[in-house]
Amino acid sequence: MENCIFCRIIAGEIPSTKIYEDDLVLAFMDISPINFGHILVIPKEHHNSSASIPENIAGRMFYVASRIGVACKRSLDYDGFNLHLADGTCAGQVVMHAHLHVVPRGLDDGFHWNWRQLKYESDAVRQETADKIVEKLKI
Ligand code: AMP
Ligand code: ZN
Repeated sequence: MENCIFCRIIAGEIPSTKIYEDDLVLAFMDISPINFGHILVIPKEHHNSSASIPENIAGRMFYVASRIGVACKRSLDYDGFNLHLADGTCAGQVVMHAHLHVVPRGLDDGFHWNWRQLKYESDAVRQETADKIVEKLKI
């Protein structure tokens, strides 16, 4: 993908601050961090969506991201971390090469996810919604 900024980072055509690399994934510092130490973990294969990433690569991404989160806690004195993945423009995906954000978090870091809590109209509506999803679920 010649126009993909993350493929160009993998190819070494655009500089990045690398944290970890193996045969399947690359991890590097996010250029505009939510907190200092914010890191992106990307598959070396180009995938627009997380849904097309093969299981072994997706598993490696999650495994590496969690360990990087722990390394951020130990090295930069954070209390925890968020793993975040935006899939689709409506979800906030800007770079169309799937990537997992590792966002180190401190108890008083002043950052808040804008997380709302809707209520299902009834238990039956919640079950209907679940049934629709299960019908289309392919694993
Ligand atoms: P998303 O909104 O999930 O697509 O996130 C894209 C992320 O990529 C943002 O957090 C950007 O700050 C980050 N980003 C974009 N270009 C670069 C770059 N050249 N090096 C490092 N991070 C980048
Ligand atoms: Zn790419």
